[in-house]
Amino acid sequence: MSVDRYAVFGHPIKHSKSPRIHSLFAEQAGQALSYSAIEVPAKHFQKVVTAFFANGGKGLNCTVPLKELAWAFADRLTERAKLSKAVNTLKLEADGSILGDNTDGCGLVTDLISNHDIVLSNSRVLILGAGGATRGIIAPLLEQGLQTLTIANRTVEKACGLAAEFQDIGAISAGSFADLQDQQFDLILNATSASLTGQLPPLPEDLLAANGVCYDLAYGNEPTPFVRWGLEQQAAKSLDGLGMLVEQAAEAFFIWRGVRPDTHPVINLLNSERSSKTS
Ligand code: NDP
Repeated sequence: MSVDRYAVFGHPIKHSKSPRIHSLFAEQAGQALSYSAIEVPAKHFQKVVTAFFANGGKGLNCTVPLKELAWAFADRLTERAKLSKAVNTLKLEADGSILGDNTDGCGLVTDLISNHDIVLSNSRVLILGAGGATRGIIAPLLEQGLQTLTIANRTVEKACGLAAEFQDIGAISAGSFADLQDQQFDLILNATSASLTGQLPPLPEDLLAANGVCYDLAYGNEPTPFVRWGLEQQAAKSLDGLGMLVEQAAEAFFIWRGVRPDTHPVINLLNSERSSKTS
């Protein structure tokens, strides 16, 4: 008997941890399924995704640079996918239609609140970067009752465009990195891809409030430049995005399989594997 097929599409994708995470979830749930990482450049997305579902695929994750294409591909969108205009999870429904969802924001918020006890209500939050990841996390963060949400980006127009798009949901403003001078935040989220090339956005001194938290959506075996910056700024916590990765995957698994995985053993295992790689 053939097992249900799932995959993550992206470009590049070969270092993706998603196949490992979903196989751990499946093992935990006692379910048989396959989940593979497939290299799909944007120009081939339409053809490959159509073939995947036509040939019995049940669900997909989509990552850089395919989230907006996945949003356009879906027949139906959840509310959070409609708001973010980016989709990281596609599901084949019983009637043959394709549902699009975005689990990134929910994954981040769950990691912050449930795994790290970070209080979001009434806090001043800064997001660095205005790309696809930022698009997915703005609404779920605003829903937590923040005091303010600020977006700073290298290309200022992109940050301003996002702030304008989401202004009806909560207190949101935008600017350049230089505009951050003399401001302070309780939580600074790095949603730029600068860490992937070993870089750090130019950040003023004293940006982080006392007892503030830094969180890099990127992750790696070593602390990212932004996680190191947070430690230098005496952050109460300076975290990377491994927990978010596992939590957004758990939400996708729930959408596909109707079972909510216990994420803690999976996060602990991935953390122990990476610390053994660096020791
Ligand atoms: P995008 O390519 O859509 O956006 C990249 C953003 O980074 C842009 O705002 C860009 O600015 C900015 N940027 C890139 N290089 C630099 C630099 N050297 N200095 C300052 N800003 C820079 O990427 P995504 O939004 O999809 O992803 C962003 C990060 O989030 C990645 O590291 C990704 O791995 C991570 N991520 C993690 C997830 C998780 O589950 N942990 C989930 C999703 C994403 P500009 O607009 O000026 O080009």
